[in-house]
Amino acid sequence: MLASSGAPAKVYRMHESGTSSGGGQRYVKVLLPLPLGAPYDYILPPELDAGPGAVVRVPLGTREVTGVVWVTAEAADTEIDPAKLKPVRAVMPVRPFTATLRRLIDWVAEYTVSAPGSVLRMAMSAPEAFDRPPLEKVFVLGDTVPPRTTPARQRVLDVAQDNVPRRSAELAEQAAVSSGVIKGLVDVGALVGREVPAERPFTIPQPDHGRQTLSPDQSTAAEDLTDRVARGIFSPVLLEGVTGSGKTAVYFDAVAEALRHDRAVLVLLPEIALTAQWLERFHDRFGAAPAQWHSELSRTERRRVWRAASEGRVPVLVGARSALFLPFENLGLIVVDEEHDPSFKQEEGVAYNARDMAIVRGQLEQCPVVLVSATPSLETVVNVAAHKFHHVMLPERHGGAQMPDLSVVDMRSEDLPSGQWISATLEQEVHRTIEAGEQALLFLNRRGYAPLTLCRACGHRFQCPNCQAWLVEHRHSSRLRCHHCDYAMAVPTACPSCEVTGKFAACGPGVERLAEEVAERIPEARVAVLASDTLTSPTRAAAMLASIENHEIDLLIGTQVIAKGFHFPLLTLVGVVDADLGLAGGDLRAAERTYQLMSQVAGRAGRESRPGRVFLQSHLPEHPVLTALASGQRQDFIDRELTARRDHGMPPYGRLVALIISSRSEDAARQTAAALRRAAPHYKQVRVLGPAPAPLALLRGRFRFRLLLKAEKSVAVQPIIRDWLVKVRIPGTVRVAVDVDPYGFL
Ligand code: ADP
Ligand code: ZN
Repeated sequence: MLASSGAPAKVYRMHESGTSSGGGQRYVKVLLPLPLGAPYDYILPPELDAGPGAVVRVPLGTREVTGVVWVTAEAADTEIDPAKLKPVRAVMPVRPFTATLRRLIDWVAEYTVSAPGSVLRMAMSAPEAFDRPPLEKVFVLGDTVPPRTTPARQRVLDVAQDNVPRRSAELAEQAAVSSGVIKGLVDVGALVGREVPAERPFTIPQPDHGRQTLSPDQSTAAEDLTDRVARGIFSPVLLEGVTGSGKTAVYFDAVAEALRHDRAVLVLLPEIALTAQWLERFHDRFGAAPAQWHSELSRTERRRVWRAASEGRVPVLVGARSALFLPFENLGLIVVDEEHDPSFKQEEGVAYNARDMAIVRGQLEQCPVVLVSATPSLETVVNVAAHKFHHVMLPERHGGAQMPDLSVVDMRSEDLPSGQWISATLEQEVHRTIEAGEQALLFLNRRGYAPLTLCRACGHRFQCPNCQAWLVEHRHSSRLRCHHCDYAMAVPTACPSCEVTGKFAACGPGVERLAEEVAERIPEARVAVLASDTLTSPTRAAAMLASIENHEIDLLIGTQVIAKGFHFPLLTLVGVVDADLGLAGGDLRAAERTYQLMSQVAGRAGRESRPGRVFLQSHLPEHPVLTALASGQRQDFIDRELTARRDHGMPPYGRLVALIISSRSEDAARQTAAALRRAAPHYKQVRVLGPAPAPLALLRGRFRFRLLLKAEKSVAVQPIIRDWLVKVRIPGTVRVAVDVDPYGFL
């Protein structure tokens, strides 16, 4: 987020009732979706009416922009000479932002130390929705009976008998007639047309369509949740259960209860583009599809969903984190599935965690918020222990399925030739699995062919010109790509440094290279590679999943995209090629994340009657994360990790705020970072660390330095950060991004 303006948040007196008039003139304060310190004042002309939340068009310099009336102001509140104020140009034909949504926006801005306008921008992500939706003409039976009826005309009248409004083309198609026949019937008054908004309504999911019989444990959990939904009060709940315990089935019951009470449901999922299986299950359970919200929606679809949500016409919406800012008007339940998932944390722009902000929204909307996970985040674990969150537990896998057997393969004693990454042990297991007519998954969290390419003649390494990162070879597309920016280049024939040809060496494996090894060592396997660059669209993902479900695939090779939520009955073997990958580096959450990811991947194995086996290949088999995974003693791991965090004053026991100072000029960034350091706040419970070059010291052409503020839990860090930032003059060429509760430390 941009904090360079550094203006402290302004608190306005709220006038919920209509517009104000001082000396006959009415004013409004309009929040614009721009990184400005505060709303701007405008005159509300007598012919317009705009209360709080109204979406308005206003002039800004030479432009005209869309904003939201934040408060209506007394003339006395206006610091600017009223003679200089400009009038609101128009009020948009859309429902006003609710008071709850406006409060959420203010709350998020305050918490993340962002400009409220930057947060508003996230809530205005479908600007077309503010216009009146286009109209279309539909027809129903008129009062006039046609004097002369042909068989074609009769078919149309038969179709129209049910009084469902249809477009001319629909009528013609369903009655198998030409459009001329429809026109003829309209001309004689047998059909009448009217204009309606051209928006397909959302089908209503039916709460009792495909009810599942729940096990006693599941029923107890489901009753607890439905009871909270029925009472319609804010309550945060953790629904915890091992992978395959039926958490989804349980929270579907809570969704059903909200539907019975005519209240909307928001389900947040990570990686929304890959939720084909979830959607299918939803359809089986409720007989209709939910509305969806994610970055791949078309503009038309965004407009439709946004508008319908604002008018209370979306019964259930499933979406990525940005769905949190949709204008629901009667939320009855929020579900955050895989609540521990790092993708709920947005790092760019306004740095917020959708899981945490979902709790805030639930509190504002007065509805339950259900966090769902097999491996809850330590933040949530601590909130449960402190009785801030209620805890609902599913202790066992559904239908008697056993948790998979997990073992660690000590790679130090596996004598693998260079260029190979699959141990003999794992290879044998894959052969056996395929022979038994089952499926296996090899997990490697690295896209592409190889993470580093070098020239053996001169040692040249291919590096991104914009980032401090190696270029990753993608053999599939014969390109070297940067995974941090969009940079890509064709693999050259000669080394750009020494001009020798044919001396490039790929270092380390990616999933493409693993596929090559599999082709050699496990030739009988029918293989699918699943990574974000092979699952490029929901359609492709669905096709891939279908071929796995139809057993046209024996072996899946995948990155983290395959770790989440999938259920393949024949999948019995999971091999993690490099369990140490996430443990390297000094990231605060490295151990926690590795534990979560490994449990999640392991949870794909043996989900039905056939038992599952999991092999973790590691060079650090004594690492506490791996021993905890192997023993299945999650509580031991949590206790050890929490003790370490408490001893170091780290989250969830302490607070962190990162400042990322970046600029195209390395000097400017360094100097600003040093100036911020000199102006660092002095309080007993607060420490400032840094500045240090960020681990990604160059990213997208910008040099980056980091400062870290560490505070005791009781400290309100936001005012401290705001005070700090106004003390330093930040040049226009330098950006200071504030990240409260940082997740990544790059
Ligand atoms: P989780 O979300 O905890 O990983 P799921 O809800 O995906 O678990 O359940 C695992 C599998 O068990 C799914 O295929 C699901 O359909 C099935 N299942 C869970 N509970 C029931 C139930 N009560 N009746 C029938 N099938 C169930
Ligand atoms: Zn790059």
